[in-house]
Amino acid sequence: MANYTGADCRLCRREGCKLFLKGERCTTKKCAFDRRPQIPGMHSQGRKKVSEYGIQLREKQKTKRYYGLMEKQFKGYYFAADRARGKTGETMLIMLECRLDNIVYRMGVGSSRAQSRQFVTHGHITVNGNNVNIPSYACKAGDVIAIKENKKAKFAWLKEYRPIVPKWVSFDTDALKGDVLALPTREDIDLSISEHLIVELYSK
Ligand code: SF4
Repeated sequence: MANYTGADCRLCRREGCKLFLKGERCTTKKCAFDRRPQIPGMHSQGRKKVSEYGIQLREKQKTKRYYGLMEKQFKGYYFAADRARGKTGETMLIMLECRLDNIVYRMGVGSSRAQSRQFVTHGHITVNGNNVNIPSYACKAGDVIAIKENKKAKFAWLKEYRPIVPKWVSFDTDALKGDVLALPTREDIDLSISEHLIVELYSK
């Protein structure tokens, strides 16, 4: 399946909630969802009754889009979580949160997951002192995520910035590095996702 190249804001309108895909713009008056929250498309107003399958599908699509993944990769997280111990839905969300691009976003380095992913793929990020340019890299508790030494000048603006980070990560804006203090729990993940619907969908 090809990558989605359409308008990001259209995805928020389709899912009926703000997915925060465009960084700072999402908190301004320019947010397309705030201005036009209805589903895009000519016949959107006619779609009223949604089946059980439709509800499950929308929940899966929304989650996939939060993390900027395509179907194959997203489904891979479901299967990995299904094989692991614990509740499948929760485990899947925790795995998604532990992706390197998401952690760079959570640390406040990127204004969106897409921008954070770009920082990773462009080789600006190190993990425990090693260059890592794989956005899906699975971080562990105790990992040290840092801006690469020769890229620090590009991120100097972060020194003036005091990001609000979740309690399971930290980021030092002077040293331009942060720690994964612990793996997140479900309560730490502030996204409104009903993960059991995704499990129901995939386990059919
Ligand atoms: Fe979604 Fe609004 Fe951000 Fe566009 S600006 S991606 S509609 S939250």
